[in-house]
Amino acid sequence: MRTRAQYIERLGKMNRNLYCNGEKIDRLDERHEGAINVMGLTFDAAWDPASRDLCTATSHITGETINRFNHIHQNTEDLHKKQDMTRYLCNKVGQCIQRCMGIDAANAIHAVSYEAQKSPQAKTAYHDNWLKWLKRFQTEDLVACCAQTDVKGERLKRPSEQTDPDMYVHVVEERSDGIIVRGSKVHISEASIADEILVVPTRALKKGEEAYAVCFAVPGDYEGVKQIVHFHNARKRDHFQRGIEYGYTDSYVIFDDCFVPWERVFLCGETLHGSVAALLFALFHRHSYSGCKPAMLDFVIGLAALAAEINGIEKTPHVRKMLAELIMTGELGYAAGYTASALGKPEVYMPGVGFVPYGPGSYIPNSIYANVGRCLTGEAVFHEQEILCNIAGGLPATFPYEKDLINPETKGLLEKYLKRNPNIPIEEQIKFWLTFIDFGLSGSAGSMMYGAYHGGGSPIMEQIAITSQYDIEAKKDIVRAIAGMKPRQKK
Ligand SMILES: Cc1cc2nc3c(=O)[nH]c(=O)nc-3n(C[C@H](O)[C@H](O)[C@H](O)COP(=O)(O)OP(=O)(O)OC[C@H]3O[C@@H](n4cnc5c(N)ncnc54)[C@H](O)[C@@H]3O)c2cc1C
Repeated sequence: MRTRAQYIERLGKMNRNLYCNGEKIDRLDERHEGAINVMGLTFDAAWDPASRDLCTATSHITGETINRFNHIHQNTEDLHKKQDMTRYLCNKVGQCIQRCMGIDAANAIHAVSYEAQKSPQAKTAYHDNWLKWLKRFQTEDLVACCAQTDVKGERLKRPSEQTDPDMYVHVVEERSDGIIVRGSKVHISEASIADEILVVPTRALKKGEEAYAVCFAVPGDYEGVKQIVHFHNARKRDHFQRGIEYGYTDSYVIFDDCFVPWERVFLCGETLHGSVAALLFALFHRHSYSGCKPAMLDFVIGLAALAAEINGIEKTPHVRKMLAELIMTGELGYAAGYTASALGKPEVYMPGVGFVPYGPGSYIPNSIYANVGRCLTGEAVFHEQEILCNIAGGLPATFPYEKDLINPETKGLLEKYLKRNPNIPIEEQIKFWLTFIDFGLSGSAGSMMYGAYHGGGSPIMEQIAITSQYDIEAKKDIVRAIAGMKPRQKK
């Protein structure tokens, strides 16, 4: 396993293929500091005796101790531990822990490449290639991001129907030594500080869309890959230091006729397995949300409760009702994820067939519960902000700037007029409101809310997964029996 320092050292040696605001930038650009600091927590936790058990695992291919973010789930306990590790680490930063995309994509491709290799039309030994990549991923403790979301162009048209065929990443040429891919994946979190980019299709594919059924991995700084980076950093503080400095990045990852050698290709042309890859990454990722969203709720509950305490309204009935609502959302999301872990199996849902065994025996969370938990908590994001806004009042919207809080001409006056609860030192109250503002009213807050709402798929995608996979007919049978109606005619 690597340390935080080794991870950062490697980032510093990567090629320059990042662009931001008109410039080509380094991975160790100071705007990356917050994001690297958050990713660093995932390395620290694997070495820390307090979290070592939760944040490491035993590799099923080498038997070595590895970072859990690089592990393939072997049983339901692994699923539980991934969920709990995610909540534990997100609690250290109050936001996303950033490394889940890699573990989720790796688990999806592990199963998909295994099944696809059995196909008589397989273009290469997909799973053998994958296992070689996975071994290096685990042994060198690499960070991977997942590039799933395509730009998608005209929303109501399928990949093969687009006016511009490059709206979904696709294979433009197959050669004896590899493939050439073209297209752009968007909003790819932490791609700019990842060692590797794992690519999976966005959506279900059908016959005629073989070129879009492609899974592969390339290094983050690979030739033929350009990243246009967006930073989400909190406002710099000079005086009132935070307990932790954090930040996030997302990239447009552009594959500009990028050559990928066969040994890095894990699927190429099998539309059925391409569809499963899209479904499975989303499923594993929605399961991760059942760790991170409850953690973000933990943070929101803390913000709401402290704002109420500072405002002296913590015992009022409307505040209690809102706190209960936040607790219910967070813990229901966690409970759904817990059940998804407990009911995990090496099975996937095949449209028209139902749940079938899939992959080499690695564990997949229960789809209904993972989707229910993700949808419930994802849709709540803006309502949580409404609750925070309700309890805080208008103060965070017009809070004085840091320098006015320390300027001798205004400091005393502001401390007098900002003070609400006489039992909490004013310096503590100021630090609290600055953090409250970071979370809900800063430049980066909006992006985080959009990520929490759409990441892992917009709510409609979870609703489609839930209603298409749930046995609604069995519920009709219950009513038929109780109503004394005729039983369903079995087909
Ligand atoms: C901060 C952030 C981080 C992210 N990180 C990652 C990441 O690391 N990796 C990754 O792969 N993705 C990532 N995503 C992408 C995320 O998964 C997508 O935003 C999500 O899937 C929605 O896709 P979209 O943004 O293209 O929105 P759209 O799909 O354009 O959605 C806009 C609206 O159009 C509707 N719509 C779209 N298509 C149809 C249709 N065919 N029929 C009817 N209605 C339709 C949607 O339901 C929605 O109401 C991230 C997103 C954000 C905001």
